[in-house]
Order: sequence, then structure tokens, then C-alpha cells
Amino acid sequence: MQRERVCLKHSPKGVIASAEVLWPHYREAIEHRFGCKVYNRYGSREVGPVAMECPHGSLHVNAADLIVEIDEPDGSGVGELLVTQLNNVAFPFIRYRMGDLAAMVRRSCPCGRQLPVLEKLMGRVSDHIVAPDGTLIHGEWFTHLFYDVEGVALFTFRQTGREGYVFEVQQDSGFDAPAFERAVKVAQNKLGPAAKIEVKFVERFEASPSGKHRFVVNECPDETGLLAGKSVPTAVDSATAGDRAR
Ligand SMILES: [Zn+2]
Repeated sequence: MQRERVCLKHSPKGVIASAEVLWPHYREAIEHRFGCKVYNRYGSREVGPVAMECPHGSLHVNAADLIVEIDEPDGSGVGELLVTQLNNVAFPFIRYRMGDLAAMVRRSCPCGRQLPVLEKLMGRVSDHIVAPDGTLIHGEWFTHLFYDVEGVALFTFRQTGREGYVFEVQQDSGFDAPAFERAVKVAQNKLGPAAKIEVKFVERFEASPSGKHRFVVNECPDETGLLAGKSVPTAVDSATAGDRAR
């Protein structure tokens, strides 16, 4: 819609996002094009809706249907989500490992709901990158890198080993090579001098079986200490505006 400069003639009451991580720039683009607020939702096919965003931006847990727990939270309260169903009488899932990282807090929300709130929802365990020195870097950090780089249609950042990383990039018209190189340099600084980053330009990304594009893939969670079910390193590092490529 952005590319074709299409806008709706009417404005829906809201847009509910689902399935993939709702990155801030996605939210911004959808709200701009649809002329309404975007409400995030977190859930899965197996257990249904787990949390839904209220008008004040809190992701409230669907506590009437589910017990949600955080497994082995780190210092910032982030750990893997475990979900137990209360209303699935045919085949209840008990402490079902969602494979996603988040923190959960009990705080009062201006909307008046008393339901617990999910915070720092970070997507799949395997969407995290580990620097050669063991620092955990949130996958979102890498998606921020290309916000301002023209002509990057799609990319995937892969961790292929303890010190090996590959940037796969699909170009669009108006590819800004110097800006792209600056972004890669920012990544190199973030990962440290021991990191070996390779850049590969691809004609077109193949769609995954689920249809979702994965921007960040850790291919060796085992080797890098990110194996699902184990606690994750404590130094969770999310993107900051200052780290962005300019
Ligand atoms: Zn609320």
C-alpha cells in the first residue's frame, strides 16, 4: 500500500496484528495507511489467544483461559513463556513451552483491567544472536539497523557458528550501498572484532513453509548456549535509537 500510495477511503475502528512480531515501524506504517490504531495480539494455534493489547498499550494476559508463567527469568524478568490451558477439556496443554521470550508483570493499567501484563515480548528463542564474547543481542536490534537504509527489500541475519554471521540481502530499486555498508559496520562494532560477517546478495528469498519471513535466525542455538529450555544469558540487549545506522 505504501509503495502504490494507496489509502483506504474509510477508517476501520482498529487493526489487530497477529502471527509475526509487530515491529514499531510496522505499527507506524499500518496506522498511517489504515488511519486507525493497531492492537497487538500474542497467541498461538495450539493454545489460542494468550495476550491482547488494550487501548493503553498493555498486553493483558488472557488469564480466564490460561495460566502463563515465565520459566527461569533472568535479572530483567525475561524468560521463556510456559502456558497451561484451563478450558481445553479434550487435550489440555500443561506448561506448554511456547519458545518465545517475555517478562510478565502485575501492575495497574489505566484501562482498569486487573489482568497481568506481558512485557518485553521478544519472539522466538532462536531469533537471538550471541556475540563471540557471549553477549546476547536481541534480534530486534538487527531489524532496527536497516530502518533508514533505502533499497533493502528484505534481509536475514544468520548466526552460523560461534563467530560466524551472514547478512543475506534482497535489494530493491534505489539501493543505498554506502548506507548499507555503514549499517554492516555498526553490526561489526556491536558483535566485536572476533565476529566474521559475510554479506550475500540474494535474488529473492524463498517463502518459508509458514509463510513468515525470519529476519534473524540463530542456526546454532545449541552451540551458542541458546538451546530452548535452558535459561538465556542475562545480558539482554535491545536496540536503542543511538545504535541505529544513519
Ligand atoms: Zn490495560
